[in-house]
Amino acid sequence: MSDLLKHLVAMSHHLGDPARGYAMLGEGNTSARIDEDSFYVKASGTTLANIGAEGFVRLSISKVLEIIDDESAGDEDVSRVFDEAKLDKGDKRRPSVEAMLHAILLSVPEYSFVGHTHPIYTNAILCSKEAEIAAQGRIFPDHVVSMKHKSVFVPYVDPGLVLAREVKMRFEEFVEEEGVLPSAIMMQNHGLITMGATPKAVTSCTDMAEKASQIIVGTYALGGPRWMSREDVDRIFTRPDEHYRLQSIADRTS
Ligand SMILES: [Zn+2]
Repeated sequence: MSDLLKHLVAMSHHLGDPARGYAMLGEGNTSARIDEDSFYVKASGTTLANIGAEGFVRLSISKVLEIIDDESAGDEDVSRVFDEAKLDKGDKRRPSVEAMLHAILLSVPEYSFVGHTHPIYTNAILCSKEAEIAAQGRIFPDHVVSMKHKSVFVPYVDPGLVLAREVKMRFEEFVEEEGVLPSAIMMQNHGLITMGATPKAVTSCTDMAEKASQIIVGTYALGGPRWMSREDVDRIFTRPDEHYRLQSIADRTS
């Protein structure tokens, strides 16, 4: 097993450990970038808690992205595109439909690992009426250190291609407005995505998202959260001077 797969398997076991409550049965999925245009993503029907190297499918990032950008394509085209995107021809395994979310994020050079889970407390927030505010707010200093000043919030839309397009749009809007790359994406009535350069960045951000969510949920029993002010958050999270700009794969490879 390559070092990359070893890291990906270990990260998946951390996120899938039933004791953590981030994912059960087939829930959640993980991925890792192999090179500029290829990545491993969890195959459908596998379980994060006990996945091995054989549980990951190798796909082309640019091939998967094509369907997201092709406005004439619909959910009925996804399986065909996934087959075309497979780099091991004849591979019978099916990538999760959420592989599209991984391809979007792994097209960003700064991200090499992505973890998507449905953690209990994070979803208590994301399935509540306060979802948008509670998913964006910051509640204590280490919350800001691990998850930056803000997360991307994605309102509920149909799973599949519609969700992939929505996540891409919200992610790009965030980068344009904030000038930095986010560490986490919060999807209403669905779950969390964390991304980073290392498996540790992904697991730490997921761990902290869930701890902060547990605390936030608790504060609603005691009169509601006392959010950190914008000034207090900004003293901990200092934005780099240079405004980050997204570059498409097409631009990078040309
Ligand atoms: Zn999901």
